[in-house]
Amino acid sequence: MKCDRRDFLKFTGVGLAGLTLSQLGVRFSPVEAYAAGLKIDGAKEVVTVCPFCSVSCHIIAYVKNGKLVSTEGDPDYPINEGSLCAKGAAMLTMTTNEHRLHQPLYRAPYSDKWETKSWDWVLERIAQRVKETRDKDFMEKNAKGQRVNRLESSFLLGTSHADNEECSLMHQAMRSLGIVHMDHQARI
Ligand code: SF4
Repeated sequence: MKCDRRDFLKFTGVGLAGLTLSQLGVRFSPVEAYAAGLKIDGAKEVVTVCPFCSVSCHIIAYVKNGKLVSTEGDPDYPINEGSLCAKGAAMLTMTTNEHRLHQPLYRAPYSDKWETKSWDWVLERIAQRVKETRDKDFMEKNAKGQRVNRLESSFLLGTSHADNEECSLMHQAMRSLGIVHMDHQARI
């Protein structure tokens, strides 16, 4: 008989209502001793949705003392049945990796070192550079005199670490600048 995780929990729940498994001769002590050493021991299970693409796989997030300690694919969800692609499988490290940057770093032209900058400084700088490029290269008409209103010297490469809504906003922002060349890392 096929027995998935949910069936097993149901079965053991029903069984325990009438007769405990230990009365049936099942010994839990080795399992309990092993489980006590796991990082998810005593953690709360929270089912969440992977934000990286529209497949929307379900992930079980294990939370202990208010901190995320582990993630895994949800075996009960019929779409991914417990599996995750490389992006979803990296969910834990994406949120907790100690190497993750917390402030923007900037390397000036010809410099050999990175400087820590504020977000305000970086966003201002990006906006200036985008405007300079657009003012210089925006094309209203093509060689045949047809109106095109496009900017061909800038390019957007999307990231799989943006969710669907962020991708939509980025796409609209790029179109508003006249950018026509776009691709996405997930497609490559
Ligand atoms: S990025 Fe991968 S794990 Fe996340 S929803 Fe898409 S297929 Fe599933």
